[in-house]
Amino acid sequence: MRPLASWIERSIARGILTTRYPRTAASEEEVPPTGRPPVAPGPPGSLAAAIPTCPVGAISETSVDRGKCIRCARCVPSGLAFAGPVEAATRSRAELAADAPLGTERAAPPLAEFGRSLHVFLVDVGSCNACNLEVLALANPFYDSQRLGIFFTNSPRHADVLLVVGVPTPEMVDPLRRAYEALPAPKAVVAVGVCPISGGVFAGTPGLAGVLADILPVDVFVPGCPPTPVAVLDGILTLAGRGRSAGGP
Ligand code: SF4
Ligand code: SF4
Repeated sequence: MRPLASWIERSIARGILTTRYPRTAASEEEVPPTGRPPVAPGPPGSLAAAIPTCPVGAISETSVDRGKCIRCARCVPSGLAFAGPVEAATRSRAELAADAPLGTERAAPPLAEFGRSLHVFLVDVGSCNACNLEVLALANPFYDSQRLGIFFTNSPRHADVLLVVGVPTPEMVDPLRRAYEALPAPKAVVAVGVCPISGGVFAGTPGLAGVLADILPVDVFVPGCPPTPVAVLDGILTLAGRGRSAGGP
């Protein structure tokens, strides 16, 4: 964490506080020290050795499921490593589970026509609040999502994008469906964090209504626990074909 004085000095020197991301790649400034990139398989044999260390069953003999990985680092002593960019949004769940390079899904972005003006409605269906905080950081002066045409709205009727955090609990299924129905078409759904993607640390526990894809059509998956603001930004921009993980901006 940078001391406050160094942020102020840097802002005065640059004349602007706001990050240039995604025009430039995410640097140490954009990604806090806890913002780990996805886990990459290590040398031969390391995946098999790491399987018993993973608390969420994300590792198999052939791959790491990025839709389950909570980035706890317990597999690192077995040879696996955090590698690559923090932006890891995908257009399909299968792409997260397979050991394929990220960004290989090239279907047309669902909201390409809204590329410069995306209104986002955030729904928490059962989070630990960490994903909420990372998403809300996008509105601060550093990430300043409005410069990219991304606006948070308090009504689903004014939104193009439903951003979902947390594990879907039975009590939230109906409100979630009603919120989705209230969005005017065309609309898109983004799953933020491994909770809505796979259940994360809560997978297999009682009190879950399933994963988000069982309830709504999901257009973009943003892995992480929690994902960094940059990763969330990338996921939203992916809807318009402007995310770095999809070859943008
Ligand atoms: S970082 Fe943790 S959750 Fe992710 S693959 Fe390694 S052990 Fe599993
Ligand atoms: S993905 Fe992780 S950080 Fe986000 S709500 Fe679930 S447990 Fe919390």
